Amino acid sequence: MHEMSIVEALLDAIQQELKAYPGTTAQVVHVRYGQLRLIVPETLQFCFAAATRETSLAGCRLELEEVPATARCEQCRQEFPVAEEWFLCPTCGTMAALVTGRELELVNLELEQPQPVECVS
Ligand SMILES: [Zn+2]
Repeated sequence: MHEMSIVEALLDAIQQELKAYPGTTAQVVHVRYGQLRLIVPETLQFCFAAATRETSLAGCRLELEEVPATARCEQCRQEFPVAEEWFLCPTCGTMAALVTGRELELVNLELEQPQPVECVS
């Protein structure tokens, strides 16, 4: 289940981001991932919930967005969708380079605001 290692990478990235905002935690985490990472969203959700259950991120929602895989031919500059790790240009048969499809990025975090402190006079 490679989703668990992806969750660990995401949690590292989230903790890094949260360092800038002491005392807050994330309520929603937006993540973009490439199609070629072959992530099963339901499995990723499940792993994320399991990994955060006992932490300050418990209950945090994961919003996933899949990025389609595309490649571009160096010869004729054509961009085309791909479904596998290697690909030839459908027009000229040249080996093409992947443009999108391998990303795994934290797009943004929606933070929970710290509770306002009541001033007791
Ligand atoms: Zn081409």
